[in-house]
Amino acid sequence: MKNNTEAFGENVFSLPVMEQRLSGSTFASLKKTIDTGSELDASIADEVAKSMKEWAMEKGATHYTHWFQPLTGATAEKHDSFIFPDFKGGIVTIFSGGELIQGEPDASSFPSGGLRATFEARGYTGWDPTSPAFIKYDGAGAATLCIPTVFCGYHGEALDKKTPLLRSMKVLSEQTVRLGKLFSIDCGDTMANATLGSEQEYFLIDADLYAERPDLQATGRTLFGKASSKHQQLDDHYFGAIKPRVATFMADLDLELWKLGVPAKTRHNEVCPGQFELAPVFETLNISVDHNMITMEVLNTLAEKHGFACLLHEKPFAGVNGSGKHNNWSIMGPDGKNWLSPGDNPHDNAKFMTIVVALMKAVDTHAGLLRASVATAGNDHRLGANEAPPAVVSIFLGDQLTDIVEQIEAGGASSSKDGGDIHLGVDLLPKLPRGNTDRNRTSPFAFVGNRFEFRAVGSNQSPAGANVVLNTIVAEAFDCICTQLEDAVAGGKEFNVALQEVLAGVIKAHKRILFNGDGYTDEWLDHAAKLGLPNLVATPEALEVLASEKTKDVFAKYGVLSNEELESRYNTYKETYETVIGIEANTALDIAKTLIVPAVVTAITEYSEVAAVAGITGEMSSLLEQVVSGIAQLESAKGATAEIAAMNELRASVDALEALVPADLWPLPSYNEILRV
Ligand code: ADP
Ligand code: MG
Repeated sequence: MKNNTEAFGENVFSLPVMEQRLSGSTFASLKKTIDTGSELDASIADEVAKSMKEWAMEKGATHYTHWFQPLTGATAEKHDSFIFPDFKGGIVTIFSGGELIQGEPDASSFPSGGLRATFEARGYTGWDPTSPAFIKYDGAGAATLCIPTVFCGYHGEALDKKTPLLRSMKVLSEQTVRLGKLFSIDCGDTMANATLGSEQEYFLIDADLYAERPDLQATGRTLFGKASSKHQQLDDHYFGAIKPRVATFMADLDLELWKLGVPAKTRHNEVCPGQFELAPVFETLNISVDHNMITMEVLNTLAEKHGFACLLHEKPFAGVNGSGKHNNWSIMGPDGKNWLSPGDNPHDNAKFMTIVVALMKAVDTHAGLLRASVATAGNDHRLGANEAPPAVVSIFLGDQLTDIVEQIEAGGASSSKDGGDIHLGVDLLPKLPRGNTDRNRTSPFAFVGNRFEFRAVGSNQSPAGANVVLNTIVAEAFDCICTQLEDAVAGGKEFNVALQEVLAGVIKAHKRILFNGDGYTDEWLDHAAKLGLPNLVATPEALEVLASEKTKDVFAKYGVLSNEELESRYNTYKETYETVIGIEANTALDIAKTLIVPAVVTAITEYSEVAAVAGITGEMSSLLEQVVSGIAQLESAKGATAEIAAMNELRASVDALEALVPADLWPLPSYNEILRV
């Protein structure tokens, strides 16, 4: 079979497609909005809508939808056909500029954390022209033009993940452009952009086995299951040869994504058997977020087509690795260059070091908020479990960069660990070799040569939340540093002298956030506690950061989230957490009562006649008693913490029974069977 390279990008209404199909003036106006973030000229909307409709209909689409990202963390759509009566007994197709720009999906059942009750129940969607529209084929004959939109309340209150993301990109751009000017980079009104590449880990299991696991179906993870004797201990799956059935799936996946303009690049086996990874090439942040949401959806639907179930949960299986979503983040300046790439000359390096130091300030000031941005019930299983970063947020810079930071703090960098002169300023900074940073897999926030990698995002999460936080806190740090520099220069100080002083001050205040060692050790956790770095182990305590004055202030100051919008998120995420744990508890109870107990009773009955296995029978009986009391305990548990503790206890007895009960009587497919696609 040959891949159809002509299909690449065929389902996306990209800029080149628009350039071809729109009039010159309309395209130019739209492009200006995209490049500069200026307001959309509503008078072009009719032409864009008509062109979009024609293009979509050529591709078989009969419907369009405003495609948005509510606080559930998933995507949402409500299809409308292009159909309209001609009032002569026939039918015409219409898609107006008004319909493109704004929708009223009602959508009153999405979580709003109380926000909508106080305003108006109705929600509105608004076109995001910066992210291209695309066509989704859901089934035979079902093709829909999907238009990425924001989702807001009547007064513009954000009810979704995209609105604050776009706002945060704007403030980051403003502060980046301002910083650029201090380094004599002036590109008019061109925006700076954050860039994102989000590596996506996932599990594939056989669909038939999935159908026999009510826990996976209801909660995305196994609530019971004894570790198999051989799983990932030999690291023989990681980067191993990809089995044909999986390779076929991956090829299909890549092609589907490429058709949608998602630049899927890397595919490989991950550490755990049955676990895989897909990494795209990085893109402008909001497009990359949209593309990750599309990727998760295509993973799920294609898996089904290939007889698999795709598990995106952070911890589908206990005792083996879970899945994350490494968030590779950088800043592309208005000059189109990556500003986290160490430059060839001292001037660029001074800018680079300024950004690195600003990140230290941002992450140290808001370490708890970053942690809160990845706080979900699923991710709690992963953070700090010696496979993913610890819940303590720190920054890894590697030895060489750390050394330079220390020299700046001490009054000026004048030598590099690699030799050669380094000074801060036009003739004052070292040549920084690229990509020579060590790999430290234990760090939650690591510099990796030309970008930072935030490794704590959960595999199942929208990447939006973490990046809203990153953009906003970095904008705040830039703002503060720019103000200090501007004031010093206005006061007559030479720029390089001012820069040295300002950076040294920031480093002094925030260097505790740097940690190059092993983040999994207890020594680090103890030390981090002494340094005052927050260690927010579980979601409930992490989410409290969203209610703090510091968080409210930074979001409100930069117009990313008002206090009310933030509070609504806090309420929503808390409620989601409790609901998820509640569903897990109920599912565990169902399985224990209706599947596990009967199987164990059968086993005990069968064994009871045979004296030779009396020992095993006795063991099963006493474990069964534990299961029964575990059920009672879980039934009476109130609140997430108690439910989690009771589930863990129940699981321990059930998993011990799985080791004793005859395999053909055990009602759930074992880890051994599941983890071997
Ligand atoms: P690794 O597993 O070594 O981290 P991968 O290739 O799996 O490497 O993933 C690296 C990710 O980082 C890719 O998505 C890549 O496109 C992305 N990336 C590279 N440069 C940048 C950048 N400037 N901004 C954002 N992401 C980037
Ligand atoms: Mg990576």
